[in-house]
Amino acid sequence: MELARQVAGPGVAIVAAGGLDQPDHPLGTDAALVVRSVAAAWSEAGVLVLMDLGSAVLSAETALELLGEERRSRVLLCPAPLVEGAVAAAVAARLGAPLEKVASEAMAGLTGKQAQLSPGPEQTAGAAESERSGALQETGEFASSEGPEPSPGEGSVADGVELSITEPLGLHARPAARLVETVGNFDATVTLENLTSGKGPVPANSLSMVATLGVRQGDRVLVRASGPQAAQALQAVVDLAAAGFGEPSAPRPTESAPVASDTRPLATSAGLTIAPGEVLRGFGVSPGIASGPARHLQSAAAGLSRDALPGLAASQSSKSALTDSPTGHGFDPEVEWARLQAAIESTALDVASERKRVLAAGASDEAQIFDAHLLLLRDEALLGPARSMVDQGRSALDAWESSVATMAERWRELSDAYQRERVHDLESIGAQVSAHLRGERRAAVLEPGIVVVAELTPAEVAGFDPAVVSGVGAAFGGPTSHGAILVRALGIPAAVGLGEQLLSVPEGTPLLLDGSAGTVCIDPSPSEHGSAVERAQHRPDGDDRARRMAAEPAVTIDGTRIEVAANAGSIEDAERAAAIGADGIGLLRTEFIFMDAEAMPTEAQQEAVYRRIAETLAGRPVVVRTLDVGADKPLPYLSRPPEANPQLGQRGLRLGLARPDLLLAQLRAVLRVAADHPLKLMFPMVATEAEVASAMELVEQARSELHSEGVAVPDKGSMQVGVMIEVPAAALGARTLAKSVDFFSVGTNDLTQYTFAVDRDLASVASLADAMHPAVLRLIDLAARAALAAGRWIGVCGELAADPAAVPVLIGLGVRELSVSPPSVAAVKQAVREADVTSCAELAARVLELPSAAAVRAEVARNRSRTG
Ligand code: PEP
Ligand code: MG
Repeated sequence: MELARQVAGPGVAIVAAGGLDQPDHPLGTDAALVVRSVAAAWSEAGVLVLMDLGSAVLSAETALELLGEERRSRVLLCPAPLVEGAVAAAVAARLGAPLEKVASEAMAGLTGKQAQLSPGPEQTAGAAESERSGALQETGEFASSEGPEPSPGEGSVADGVELSITEPLGLHARPAARLVETVGNFDATVTLENLTSGKGPVPANSLSMVATLGVRQGDRVLVRASGPQAAQALQAVVDLAAAGFGEPSAPRPTESAPVASDTRPLATSAGLTIAPGEVLRGFGVSPGIASGPARHLQSAAAGLSRDALPGLAASQSSKSALTDSPTGHGFDPEVEWARLQAAIESTALDVASERKRVLAAGASDEAQIFDAHLLLLRDEALLGPARSMVDQGRSALDAWESSVATMAERWRELSDAYQRERVHDLESIGAQVSAHLRGERRAAVLEPGIVVVAELTPAEVAGFDPAVVSGVGAAFGGPTSHGAILVRALGIPAAVGLGEQLLSVPEGTPLLLDGSAGTVCIDPSPSEHGSAVERAQHRPDGDDRARRMAAEPAVTIDGTRIEVAANAGSIEDAERAAAIGADGIGLLRTEFIFMDAEAMPTEAQQEAVYRRIAETLAGRPVVVRTLDVGADKPLPYLSRPPEANPQLGQRGLRLGLARPDLLLAQLRAVLRVAADHPLKLMFPMVATEAEVASAMELVEQARSELHSEGVAVPDKGSMQVGVMIEVPAAALGARTLAKSVDFFSVGTNDLTQYTFAVDRDLASVASLADAMHPAVLRLIDLAARAALAAGRWIGVCGELAADPAAVPVLIGLGVRELSVSPPSVAAVKQAVREADVTSCAELAARVLELPSAAAVRAEVARNRSRTG
């Protein structure tokens, strides 16, 4: 199973279904365990069940009977050889083959062994099979002149590439699986032939066929490809061979090249060498200079030996010993069970993110530990007993811990040493779930320094204390990801998309981070350090003036008032906004309040938070946006079906309409506060008028419910209701939408993401998507014209509003409210004071016609120098 898991990778679930639950008689098969294992491995594509002879067959057949009608049709019992079949099936499943193909690959699993034990160059089992299947192609379509450059050990032949296999164990299961996976990525027919033994050729997209070649160290292998992507497929195979087929092996010649004498390598994890003074470049997301030691953020109790990962030394999280009494008054098994599920989901998120981090550091073997942890979290053998105990009146924590302890005890008694060792995994994952149940859910950074993370998630940022975290660097992620937005709100200098090398920097290494330039300098020299400090101290004169005037209204040269409000996601943000002098809250991201909670906040809990925020703003308006969860903002306690493209899935208002119970509770809480404070309501991720109509019906339902309960609510029409313009369909349909709402607020982060089809969390494509591009500006123009024609106001609450270069353009398009993170309020107000509405309108008209974001920025700069 371990070998099959290795070749399958994390996307294919492989679950052991054998054995009996009786310590004294562990040998045998239990149909109920087979049913649970099928459930644990379940995917819509189906499940393949492999078994040996004897009771296994009977139990598997009984299990099939026990499965529901719908699932039964997607489970195949397969007589393939257990070990070879599992490995061949794992590779086929990894490549996305349908269930029947996975089964036939498993059935062919023995052909490699048969071929090796009864070799015959003229007619090997593999060659015979491949000829039967017609998979062998005529060669000759691939011209050597277009082929990849041969490297040492490889030669280019007339119609393909010859490789010399240097791997000590030859092309055994794992390297062969990688080869099969690699060629599977291309639109090409690739064949493999063992020139040394004369076996083959065989299709390279079948593990069992590749195995028939019996490739050993020193063998020469001929790879041929034909089809549209033949050249790319061959190049990929050559690259894979040059990388030792991804196997941890003795250093290859390129790795052992001597380093220049003036560089002291700091880290070599994952083959990455970092020299002092090296500068990593990404995207600046929160301005400011920070210097300090690297602090790797580590999810609580990941259960992995830090020794194995030199760059990932853990910073211990502090664990306060809270008691397990979260349900308050009265015991409700359903509430307890929901708490346990929420803790399990939160742990699964932690594990998945830790896995990503470890993989990025090149430790793919260690990353597989996390796959096992994820499977344990779904294991019915743990969950079933826990559920029964909760039903019998035990708390979530008590039930979980005793279920884990019982299983650990059983595993310890097993004779199999490997299984005994897995107790460590079980206890580790058990402790993580327990920590969530106790409320010790976030990794804390205790030592001052610059936090280094793989990706900045909202949950992680929520745990940052600006007094301890002086800067944040992320290896991955885009500049408008929600983590980046949150860290900017905290005023902590930050850069994202710095590359995976960042993760190899050893704990404690001195770093110098520039949050404006988006760079991190590793182990800077005193002069590099000195000049950065000077840069940080040298602020243009305007900055101080802007700060002094931050609480004053922002009025353009020709007398137009522009509201400069703040974006907030918590009571603390609201306090920052009020302190800095924001004109109100232009976007309250309520989902962060929900993400901060252990369970779905009740109407009363929500009311208390909204009321506190409104009181903090003391009469200034607060735009409350309804829950915008989904995509990178999951609610751990709200279980939802997985989505292949969550940014295009059930996000924002779509979820609210699918779960009107949640939206109604929120609307009721908002209306209660709106009776006493100037709240406005806003719906996120609107695409159509029909969605707005349904949402408005819910507002009216909430209002009349409260009214009939005798609760004071604002009259219809006295609380403004608006929508976000962040889906191109909403901008294009703004004329219709404007008739139904009081205002628009443009979410340029999502509007840019959807206009350019660029995931806002992905650094690799981030530079494509600049909100200053005329494609986005034209959509804003459409929305602004529609708003103004209908007598509505329009604001911008996406990150573009905080870009001083964008301010005159947005004012020129008709925008009259800008909502930005609290630290940007002063600078944006100052930019408004330097603008003149008439010349802004001329500027806006000009830039809409330009071809690129760069041209727009250049035109804004020219305009500024012209108008002084
Ligand atoms: C936006 O998309 O621009 C926006 C303000 O909403 P969020 O960033 O929360 O998705
Ligand atoms: Mg948005």
